[in-house]
Amino acid sequence: MQNLNKVTIVMYHYIRDLKNSRYPKIKGLDLFLFIEQLNYLQKNYNIITMELLIEALYNNESLPPKAVLLTFDDAYLDHFTNVFPILFDRKIQGSFFTPAKAISENLVLDVNKIHFILASADNIDYLVSRTFNELDKYRNKYELESNDFYYGKLAVANRLDLKEVAYIKKLLQKELPEELRNKIVNTLFEEFVGMSENAFSREMYMSRDQLKCMLKNGMHVGNHGYNHYWLNSLSEEEQRFEVRKGCEFLKEIGVDMNEWTMCYPYGAYNPITLNILEETNCKLGLTSVVDVADLSVYNKFALPRLDTNEIPKDSNSKVNDWFLKG
Ligand SMILES: [Zn+2]
Repeated sequence: MQNLNKVTIVMYHYIRDLKNSRYPKIKGLDLFLFIEQLNYLQKNYNIITMELLIEALYNNESLPPKAVLLTFDDAYLDHFTNVFPILFDRKIQGSFFTPAKAISENLVLDVNKIHFILASADNIDYLVSRTFNELDKYRNKYELESNDFYYGKLAVANRLDLKEVAYIKKLLQKELPEELRNKIVNTLFEEFVGMSENAFSREMYMSRDQLKCMLKNGMHVGNHGYNHYWLNSLSEEEQRFEVRKGCEFLKEIGVDMNEWTMCYPYGAYNPITLNILEETNCKLGLTSVVDVADLSVYNKFALPRLDTNEIPKDSNSKVNDWFLKG
């Protein structure tokens, strides 16, 4: 028998025509593969809206069999230019999660700067050596460990990244003190990408008007924090700030705050986060745990998602294990 309490929530980031873009090496989903995947999903699943998922969570409405929800993180301009017209045309809803500060202050998130530094570097070994120079420069002031220490600790290949790439990402996203991380990221961004942050931000993220346009046309827009920090690394007060400022931004662009939703940057949250969301009348929270969301098993503030790479990108592909679990 079908379980009508399950939804497969798919997570997307960059979606663009990679080889014709300025940064063909950026790790994103090619637009034609997104279309193929959408065809596959429409053929095998029922694409649902956020409103229906909220109904299922709060009013015990059952979901259609093989329900799938499409989510897009970080409010990239890619989503407005490439994704929205396709969804609109097919009368499908997408849910878009905005890191508010990047948009309201025309800044670029460090995580995105790092992606574009990596995509702009012709030689990864040279980039690694540049981080060593930077560490040398600041070693005394910040009481840093040796270069070998950081490289030995962080250069571990994973499912997505070569060991050199994993080292750069971890060093600059988390390992070093925040103030120093920002300094080094900005130096390398200037050197490898060479564009002003303000100009880059405008070609990177959607504007308020574009978000409003999507809302008006039936898309869902949710909270993805203010600074795009790991919430579980913040104090309660700092977490409240992230949630509140994210909500203020949603209010400003016209989101119905009776149905606001949260998507944790990096999928990171802790019990304090869940209390804050409960108190502030958040309807649901999305993590980056890889699984089908069974509503009878998962906390409504900790719903798992599948990355696009977990799902076939060929309209005629046979279904995979995730389909069977969904
Ligand atoms: Zn994000």
